Amino acid sequence: MPLKTLSEYEALAAAAHGHLCAGQILGLRMAMHGVRLLGLDDPAGADRKRLVTFVEIDRCATDAISVVTGCRLGKRALKFRDFGKVAATFCDLRDQRAVRLVARETSRQRARELHPEIADKNQQQMRAYRELSDQDLFDEQWVRVRLGPEDLPGYKAPRVVCAACVDGVKFKREVLRDGRVLCRACAGERYYEPL
Ligand SMILES: [Zn+2]
Ligand SMILES: [Zn+2]
Repeated sequence: MPLKTLSEYEALAAAAHGHLCAGQILGLRMAMHGVRLLGLDDPAGADRKRLVTFVEIDRCATDAISVVTGCRLGKRALKFRDFGKVAATFCDLRDQRAVRLVARETSRQRARELHPEIADKNQQQMRAYRELSDQDLFDEQWVRVRLGPEDLPGYKAPRVVCAACVDGVKFKREVLRDGRVLCRACAGERYYEPL
């Protein structure tokens, strides 16, 4: 199951996401470029245990990145950092290197220049995002990502119990506060208010 062509991935992405759009194509291109830079020929198959992907937005592109990389939240191979950026970092666990790609702000402008004859913006961008070079679409940067054993798929996590809410917490996500073991919610990161 080596890397597929863009059009093969487009069919898979449309099925997985429910529609095909410019964001999906951008995500597919980003993931294909990322795994190629890492030298992974078969990210969703033979190389699947080597790859962890961080995504920085929860949009159409995110689902497309999953299609190419095979990295999924439920497998702990997809990490979501909500930075609101069309960006992703592809980490090769075996060779311990990682590359972060960001969609360039100029890509929409490039799409307008490339296909002024297409009035519909989504169609215009879909077409352009198939045709533009990786360099036109993305800025890339080699980075170091700190991943502990508790961050990796397959980690056998002892469960601890929060001293305040008594929820169980896995993967060393608990925090020590004034001598008490707390979950992150009780330690101040709660995103909800009990009614
Ligand atoms: Zn979409
Ligand atoms: Zn708690």
